[in-house]
Amino acid sequence: MIITVIGSGYVGLVSGTCFADFGHEVICVDKAEDKIEKLKNGEIPIYEPGLEELVASNVKAGRLSFTTELAEPVRKADVVFIAVGTPSRRGDGHADLSYVYAAAEEIASSLDGFTVVVTKSTVPVGTGDEVERIIRQTNPNADFEVVSNPEFLREGAAISDFKRPDRIVVGLSSERAKAVMTEVYRPLYLNHSPLLFTSRRTSELIKYAGNAFLAMKITFINEIADLSEAVGANVQDVARGIGLDNRIGSKFLNAGPGYGGSCFPKDTLALVKTAQDNSSPVRLIETTCSINDQRKRSMSKKVAAAVGGDVRGKKIAVLGLTFKPNTDDMRDSPALSIVQALQDKGADIHAYDPEGMEAAVELMDDVTFGSNAYEIAKDAHALVIVTEWDAFRVLDFGRLKEEMASPVLVDLRNIYGKDEVEKHGFSYTCIGRPDEE
Ligand code: NAD
Repeated sequence: MIITVIGSGYVGLVSGTCFADFGHEVICVDKAEDKIEKLKNGEIPIYEPGLEELVASNVKAGRLSFTTELAEPVRKADVVFIAVGTPSRRGDGHADLSYVYAAAEEIASSLDGFTVVVTKSTVPVGTGDEVERIIRQTNPNADFEVVSNPEFLREGAAISDFKRPDRIVVGLSSERAKAVMTEVYRPLYLNHSPLLFTSRRTSELIKYAGNAFLAMKITFINEIADLSEAVGANVQDVARGIGLDNRIGSKFLNAGPGYGGSCFPKDTLALVKTAQDNSSPVRLIETTCSINDQRKRSMSKKVAAAVGGDVRGKKIAVLGLTFKPNTDDMRDSPALSIVQALQDKGADIHAYDPEGMEAAVELMDDVTFGSNAYEIAKDAHALVIVTEWDAFRVLDFGRLKEEMASPVLVDLRNIYGKDEVEKHGFSYTCIGRPDEE
């Protein structure tokens, strides 16, 4: 199969590279010239474990290439994936579909022979209909079908998620397109990853319903963490106790500072907007969004309490800025709200992240960035773990105590136990484990 992927970001680049690794011929297209230039030179514009090697081997095998020119790759493709961004639209929170529609228009005039056009971007219900309308209007003679195939990969584990998915969801209506999509995913299908065929609208909704459910699960355990603090229970034991029930499951039950990232915040909001537009409100998700928004800022109160009630004029060292470990993605990271709230209270913020600093510099004002945990801890009144990078799991507390103005650890990811921290003379604050504080 010849596959063209429009948009070579976190999803497009990983999907395209994995399709090439399956044996397909793949051309990844992006408008961003610097991105394509880097890729052509063997550099990976994002941080994703394992991606550099996989790109290199598939380029070498002649199955993967990169370009900014869309026309020829679309003309010769059997399948065109649209994997451009769908951020929140400024002002109203609806998904901004302008990149998807622009890509559809650009694709339309180059289609040649039967082509399956797949929206891999996360798009609200009905977007496939509009993509179809745009292509038909731009090129009335085109022979094509628009299919929905949402992506469920997680940044940081994107390659294994793509190659070993729990399921592949495909929304379409013709046998012709079904045969093509089955061929695209044949290696996974042979590996027993279930291929779930639905209508296009159902497939579009599955993606949002899935993300909203996960966001709700995180928010649920975060509220139970607050309740644990109020009543003297341990949220990690509660999570274990409920997670062992197969109907609930143990994943996504880690209490923390609130969810962030490039998907959950925008997708929950977009689902709320779709639901309101269709007079079928999803009140659970509306509440989830608002609880989560407040939670991130409220973490600053925990930090203030840990340093005696007031952070004004105090140096606070923040460890971890990306929305989760093993990515350089800073989009909607909880660190942005937490740091802003601490600055609003008068704190002097010093921060370090293993991969996120290039993006963080663009998004955060008045923060002093350091090159490791010990450098930013120097003369700090508290060290706050915001993202649980592996490198932060084995901190040298003896060394930190020597560097810091006061030995205070605020662990917003619950990666330490009270005893192991306190034995070094630190005070310890965590989430939902009052018996350990
Ligand atoms: P991204 O911003 O990393 O990548 C999008 C790319 O598309 C950019 O490089 C941009 O330059 C390019 N682009 C935009 N318009 C273009 C055009 N007309 N022609 C060519 N290139 C164009 O975004 P992402 O994180 O890869 O997300 C893409 C979609 O996948 C979104 O809808 C997102 O919600 C969804 N998604 C993301 C993830 C994730 O973990 N990042 C997971 C599942 C689904």
